[in-house]
Amino acid sequence: MEMEQLVALCRRRGFLFQSSEIYGGLQGFWDYGPLGVELKRNVREAWWRDMVAAHNELEPPAGAPSAYEMVGLDCSIIMHPQVWKCSGHYDLFHDFMQTCRQCKKLFRSDHVWEMLKESDWVKSFATTTSPGPQPDRIRVDGGSMLRWAKTKGKKVAPGLALVRNPEVTLSWLVEHIEKNPDEVLSIPTILQFVATEQFAVTGLQTPCPACGGDLTEPREFNLMMETYTSPIRDESTKAFLRPETAQGIFVNFKNVLDSSRVRIPFGIAQIGKSFRNEITPRNFTFRSREFEQMEIEFFCRPETSPEWYRYWRDRRYKWYVDLGLAGDRLRLRDHEADELSHYSCGTADIEYAFPFLPAGEFGELEGVAHRGDFDLRSHAEGKLVRKGDDFVVEADAEGNPKYRGSGKDLNYFDDQTKERFIPHVIEPSAGADRAALAFLCEAYREDEAPDEHGKPVKRVFLKLHPRLAPIKAAVFPLVKKDGMPEIARDIYKSLKPHLNVFYDEKSAVGRRYRRQDEIGTPFCITVDSQTLQDGTVTIRDRDTLEQCRIHKDACLGELQKRLIG
Ligand code: ATP
Repeated sequence: MEMEQLVALCRRRGFLFQSSEIYGGLQGFWDYGPLGVELKRNVREAWWRDMVAAHNELEPPAGAPSAYEMVGLDCSIIMHPQVWKCSGHYDLFHDFMQTCRQCKKLFRSDHVWEMLKESDWVKSFATTTSPGPQPDRIRVDGGSMLRWAKTKGKKVAPGLALVRNPEVTLSWLVEHIEKNPDEVLSIPTILQFVATEQFAVTGLQTPCPACGGDLTEPREFNLMMETYTSPIRDESTKAFLRPETAQGIFVNFKNVLDSSRVRIPFGIAQIGKSFRNEITPRNFTFRSREFEQMEIEFFCRPETSPEWYRYWRDRRYKWYVDLGLAGDRLRLRDHEADELSHYSCGTADIEYAFPFLPAGEFGELEGVAHRGDFDLRSHAEGKLVRKGDDFVVEADAEGNPKYRGSGKDLNYFDDQTKERFIPHVIEPSAGADRAALAFLCEAYREDEAPDEHGKPVKRVFLKLHPRLAPIKAAVFPLVKKDGMPEIARDIYKSLKPHLNVFYDEKSAVGRRYRRQDEIGTPFCITVDSQTLQDGTVTIRDRDTLEQCRIHKDACLGELQKRLIG
C-alpha cells in the first residue's frame, strides 16, 4: 500500500483533515473528521477498558507476578513550571536542529540523513539509466548528472553545498564531470559523498534536504511549548503545555494514595493531549505538535520491578497483536544499554513498520520504560543527576539545589511489613494517534469483489478489528420500495441504542457495500424480497464477503456475538 492512497482515503471519507485547512493548514496539527473521531475514541476506549475498567484486581492477569489495582486520573495540561524543572524537561527535553542558510527551513539533526534520502533533489539525480524504487539502487552516469546539474539542478539547488572546505558547489560538479565525462557516478557514490558516517568524519557537510543548500551547525532547541497563565506576560507567569501526561500522575501520587485505598502494586492511568514543538512534524499524524497519549505509571516494590517491567512490556505488545497488528510489521525492541534514558534500567519500544518509512525501518508506537524511583524522588528532593550508580540532587554554583523539589514525603508506607520506601515505576507510554494510524495502515486492503452484475471489480476495504471500526454495522433496504425501507429503518432503530450503526437507502446496493467496506464497517444487514416473506435478512461479512440469513429480530444478538467473538 502506498501511503498516499491511505491519506487520500482518510481525507475523502472524513477520517482526518489538516488543521485549519481553509487557511492553508497549520503544519503538525490535525483534525479528526466524523469517522476518525470514532476510530480514535475506539482506540482510547479499548485501551482504557483493557488496562483499567475491565481489570480484575482480585486475580493476577496471565503473566503478572501478582494481582494488582488500576485507577485513573485526568490532570490539567498546564502545570506548575517547577514540575518541568524537577522532571528534567526544562533542561533536557531538547532536540538538535539545523537551519538551511539558503531556504531557511528547519531540520531535526537526527532526521536530516533520512530526509535527504527521500528528498526530491537527491531523487532527481536519477534522471536515469535504471530506475528502481530506492534512490540508492539507481545508478546514473556522468552524462545524466551533468544534464541534471546544468538544467534542473541549477533551479533546484542553486547553492548546492556538498562540502564546506574546500567549497564544492553545483558549478564544481559541472566542471568535475566535464573534465571526467566517462566517470560513472551512482547515487550510492553521491550519497556516500554527502551523508554517511564516513562522510561525517571527512568534515564534509550534509546539504539541506529541501534545496541542497548549506545547513547551520546543530543547536539545541527545547521542545516544550510556552504559554502564560496571566494577562501579564513575564517570566513569573510563563508556563508550559505538558509534553507528556506522565508528570501529572507523579505529582498526584500522594493524592491518589491518600484518597483511595490502593496498595502497592498498583497503576495509575491517564489519557490526554500533549504538546511538543517538533522541529520537523511529518509523516501524517505520526509526528504532530499536538497529540494524545495513553500512559500508565505502575508503582511496585523495587525488588519486584524487573518482573513487572517484563510483564508490562509483553502485555502491551500483545494488546496491539490482539487488535490486529499481527505479523512482521510489528516488533518489540529492547533498547541497547547506551540508548537508555539517564534514569532507566530497561526500556523496550513497540514499533511498527509504517509504510511511509524506508523498507526495513520501524517507527515507535509505544515505549515501556523502567524508570526506577527517579520521578518520585525528583519531585520530592529536586532535579536529580546521575552520580556513579546513583542519583543526587543537582546543585547550582553555590551548592544549593538547582531546582528545589516539593519537599513533600513521596514515600510509600507498607502497613503490613511496616516498611517505608519510594516505589519503583514501570511506564508503558503509548500514543493514541500513532496507534490509530498503525491500525489504519495495517487495515488497508485491496482485492476484487463482484459488483451488482457479478463482474469482479477492484475493492478497497479497511480490515479494522470490529472493536476499532467506526461503524459496527450498516442497514440497507435492497430497493427503496415494497415496504423494505420501513423494515430496514425498524432494524436500524432497534440497533442504534446499542451499537454505532448506519442506515443507507441511496444508490445500488453494491455501491453501498463498497462504501462501507472502504471505511471498515464489519457487517452489512440487508432487507430484501425474502424478508417480506419469512422475516429473514442477509448479514454480510466485510472480510469474507460471505452472506447468511438470520431473522430480523435476531440482528442485535448476532452482531453482539460477532463483534465480541
Ligand atoms: P520519538 O522518538 O518518535 O520522538 P519519543 O520517544 O519522544 O518518540 P515518548 O516521549 O516515549 O516518545 O512518548 C510516548 C509516545 O507518545 C510515543 O511512543 C508516541 O506514540 C507518542 N508520541 C510522542 N511524540 C509524538 C508526536 N510528536 N506525535 C504523535 N505521537 C507522539
